[in-house]
This record gives sequence, structure tokens and C-alpha cells, in this order.
Amino acid sequence: MYYWLIALLVMGFINMFFLPNIAKNAVEQVNYDVFLTEMNNKNISQAEINEDVIYFFLKDEPQAGEQTQIFAQQTPKVYSTVRMDDPQLVERLYTAGASFGEVKPKEVSPWVSSLIMFVVFFLLWQFVMKKAMSKMGGIGGNAMSFGKANAKIYVKAQTGKTFKDVAGQDEAKEALNEIVDFLHNPQKYTEVGAKMPKGALLVGPPGTGKTLLAQAVAGEANVPFFSISGSEFVEMFVGMGAAKVRDLFKQANEKAPCIVFIDEIDTIGKKRDGNGMGGNDEREQTLNQLLTEMDGFDGQKGVVILAATNRPETLDKALLRPGRFDRRIPVELPDLKGREAILKVHAEKIKMEDAIDFDAIARATSGASGAELANIVNEAALRAVRMGRSKVNQNDLMESVEVILAGYQRKGAVISPEEKQIIAYHEVGHALVAAKQKNSAPVQKITIIPRTSGALGYTLQVDEGEKFLMNKEEIFNKIATFTGGRVAEELKFGSITTGASNDIEQATRLARGMITRYGMSDEFGMVALETVTNQYLGGDTSLACSNETAAKIDAAVIEVVKQAHDKAVEIIRENMGKLDEIAGYLLEKETITGEEFMEILNRKEATE
Ligand code: ADP
Ligand code: MG
Ligand code: ZN
Repeated sequence: MYYWLIALLVMGFINMFFLPNIAKNAVEQVNYDVFLTEMNNKNISQAEINEDVIYFFLKDEPQAGEQTQIFAQQTPKVYSTVRMDDPQLVERLYTAGASFGEVKPKEVSPWVSSLIMFVVFFLLWQFVMKKAMSKMGGIGGNAMSFGKANAKIYVKAQTGKTFKDVAGQDEAKEALNEIVDFLHNPQKYTEVGAKMPKGALLVGPPGTGKTLLAQAVAGEANVPFFSISGSEFVEMFVGMGAAKVRDLFKQANEKAPCIVFIDEIDTIGKKRDGNGMGGNDEREQTLNQLLTEMDGFDGQKGVVILAATNRPETLDKALLRPGRFDRRIPVELPDLKGREAILKVHAEKIKMEDAIDFDAIARATSGASGAELANIVNEAALRAVRMGRSKVNQNDLMESVEVILAGYQRKGAVISPEEKQIIAYHEVGHALVAAKQKNSAPVQKITIIPRTSGALGYTLQVDEGEKFLMNKEEIFNKIATFTGGRVAEELKFGSITTGASNDIEQATRLARGMITRYGMSDEFGMVALETVTNQYLGGDTSLACSNETAAKIDAAVIEVVKQAHDKAVEIIRENMGKLDEIAGYLLEKETITGEEFMEILNRKEATE
């Protein structure tokens, strides 16, 4: 945007320095008596008498010496004066030796100045456009080519990625494999009369490998691969995005068979809603052009369009109808096996010790995306280097899991012994409640080393297997575990701290979900009281009920959390001895493993 600022500055400059100079040449107004004096001195060379104004040149310029500007030196200066009622004027001028004719300030002619202005403007405009376009236009941005998209979007299939680089995601790969196969030998499909879907839409949370999959398809199919991101269509000027779409498809048609990949398609594919004071013109035009192009091309020619998004619910319905993106390929968060496979794919590029238990890491990272797993492996490698080792070991991996979950260790943090004690009791409280309930994931680690995320300590629970469902009891137990930290503080110290804020948030979210979304309350039964608005990005919800119901929901949520809290109180009260003992051990060690924790817990029980 600062080009406009430059343009403005230049304009100001022109106004300040050039225009006055040009104007100086323009007519200078003098009084009639000056005119008379000059006439009497026979100093007027030429005069033009108009109805109420007289223009004239002087024979010798009075202030010729001052005039240094280029424009002024070439032609004499023009003077004007008002015309008085003077019947003998012509005669007197004649005798004064003046000639009659047109007296025009030629050098100031509006032509010259407007021409100059025009040229300046034109150059400026071109400069601004060039800058603006090279900024927006992507590869090979070319100035002033309206109506012809400036981006050379064409990218050869040199992504170097194949399906081997994508771990897990077997269903997605299978669906895409069909497309690859079609691109290799289309006649196999046309013989049967089968039509290939024109487009496939990859949907899923961020970091699950959508972009990677599209690149792998290009690598596998070994056909040209046009890749463009939705945001690249969004232009400053209305119509440019549409032009880009047109150009993209023109190029693709020439290169068929090929793949066109539109990443983050929600940028341009948002629902067209009737409101908005024309503010979305550009986006809508682009979308309309895309729809038109998708209808226009011949699917049999072998142009396959892939697109990716993590906000499928915002897409315009027209995009999703058969004949356009009629195939939807979910790319979900990896499951246990998928996580292990992804870790292994990324571990291949890294020197590791031989005996690495990837399964353990995969179990500790439930809910992590492929991108996060890739990050964990890299963090582990960095840690190994920091530790001066040449190979990554299990510890590096485990530690980097925690870095991703909770941030780095804050070694420098100074925490008073009293606070350390509270934190230790809080964490052991969580662990105890978890361990004493059935159906809750085993404790793997308890630590009171603070982390950069703000966590002062945490209890890591890791499920043994993969869980796809959670029953009511399990959720309730989980809520009880969340309250366990606070309960330990209450029972041990008789006071409560701010340390439980995150626990409270999570417990509330779970309790709310039970009632509004999972139909787990007797009062409401199987009624959806909340709907998820964006499934793949955080899963925000919005209420779908009346105010009275909302108030009842709140009451029910409070009740669930309260019951869970009571249960935790009961558990910890029964185990106060163990709470003291384990908390003391934790204070000493700062980090203890799940085995150590269970060992103390069971040993005590045996001897008592
Ligand atoms: P998005 O779904 O947001 O487009 P990307 O495809 O950009 O995600 O994935 C980001 C990175 O995460 C990839 O470059 C890759 O390193 C890693 N990744 C994600 N999913 C996988 C997977 N299934 N297998 C291997 N690596 C993956
Ligand atoms: Mg992506
Ligand atoms: Zn806690």
C-alpha cells in the first residue's frame, strides 16, 4: 500500500516545484495605468484586445534577468489588464508602434502542462501496478496484463513426493490411487463408460497431510501438476481472480492429462450469501468463474482437480454438487497405527538408536496430527544434538512429546518450597484419582518441573490401546480426575489456589459435552442442544436451544462437575496416607514414572 504514498509524495512534489514555474509564465495581471505608461513609452510590441481584457507583450522584459526557468526563457511574458472604456485605444496603440494579433501564453498552454501531467501519471501508474502485481502475482508476475492472468501456475511434477512419503491415511490413498490410475490409462475407464470424477476434495484438520497427499498424487501420476493456493486468487482488483482461474484452466487444458490442485479452497469457495454490500464482489466473481470452468472442461480429457480445505462446512453448495467436487476424501487425524507409521517415516531421515519403541510414543500422542508428529521427531533430533549425542534415543522422543504438549522445561523458574509442595500434592491428587478408578488411562509420568506453556507440573496419562468410543462412566471418571488436583489441595492444606484453572476448564467442557452433545443426561436425553460449527478447527460449538433450556443446561453441568468432585474427595480422603507419601517422593525427585507411582501405591496397600 505504500506505493500510493510514494505516488502522493511525487504528486505533491510536482505541485510544489513544477506547477508554480509553469504558472509563472502564465499571464501576469497589471493595472491599467501600467499598460498606459508602457504604451506611452512605446514599449508594447504586440497587443490583443478582447471584450473586457487586454493581453500584451512588452518589448523589453523588466525582470528578464530573474527568469531562470527553462520554460520562461523561450518566450516573452504575457501581461493582461482590464479593458477600460477607451475609444481611442486602438489608435493610440497604433501610434505607439504596437502590432495587433493574438497574444497567447504559448509556453503555458494547457496542452503542455496536461501532457506533462499525463506522462507523469502514466509512469507512476505503471510503476505502482508493476509493484503491486509482482507482489501479488506469484511466479512471473507481469505488469499491465489485465484479463490475462499473470501467474505462471504451471509446476512440473517435481514435488518428489510419492505415496510412500504419506504414512497411514490408507483410505485417502486408495481413493486417490484410482485417480492416479485413471491418469495413467484413461481408456480402461472410458471403455466401460465410467466417468472419472472431475474433482476430489480433501477435507480434514490442519496438518494431517492434505497438501502432502496432493503432491504425492502428482508424483505418483507423473503428470503435470498445477498447484495454486486459494489465497493467490484473491486480488486487489476486481476481475483479476477470475482471470487467473480462466488462465489456470486454459493452461491445464493444454497440458492434459494433468492435475490441478487448489489448496485452502475455502478462501474463494465460501458460501455466497445475499448480504454484504458488494464487498465480496471479487471473491464471488472468482468463485463463479471457477464453477463455470469446472463445468466447461471435458473430464475425459484427463484434467483432475484436487482441492483441500479444513473448513468444508463453509464451502458453497454449488461447489459440492455432482460434476464438480463430487468426491470428498476425508483426511482425519491418524490413529495409533497411523501415528506409529508417520513417526517411522520421519525417523528414517534421522539417525536413531536401534531399539526405539515407536509404539510407546504413538500411544502418548493421541490426537496429534501428522505435522505435529513430524515436529516431535525433529525436536528429538535437535535435543540429541544439544545433548552432544550422534543418535536419537527413546528419551529424546519422549521429552519432545512433552515439549509439544506442554512446552520446554523452565529450568530457571524459581518456585518457593511452599508452592512446590502445593504443586506436588495437586499433581499426585490427579494421579491418585485416576489410579483408583476403573476405566481410566494409567498414569505414565508425574512431574513438577514447570514448562514454558505455563504448566507448573502435570500428570501424563497414556491409554493402552486406541479408543474410539468413551462411555458415560469413562467421561465421568475423567472429570473426577480433573478435579483431583484441586481436591488434594483442599484436603491437605484447607485452602485452594489458582492452579486448577485449566483443570476446571477441561472438566467443564467434558461435562457440557455430555449433556449438550452426547445425550448423556436423563433430563434432556438424545436432543442436540449444541451443534459443532467447525469440526476441523477446534470444534467450536453454538447453542441450539431456548434460553430456559440453556439455563437448565448450566445447572446440569454444575451438577455433573459437583458429583465428580465429590467422588474425588471420597477417593483422596481414603488415601491420604498415600497422598502424603507419594507427594513427598515427588518433591524429592521432581519427576516420577508411572511404575514408581504404582509401586508406592501398591506397596503401601500390601503392608497395611
Ligand atoms: P495439511 O493437511 O494442513 O495440508 P500438510 O500436508 O501440509 O498438512 O502436512 C504438513 C507436514 O506434516 C507434512 O509436510 C509432513 O511432514 C507431515 N505429515 C502430515 N501428515 C503426514 C502423513 N500422513 N505422513 C507423513 N507425514 C505427514
Ligand atoms: Mg495444507
Ligand atoms: Zn491440575
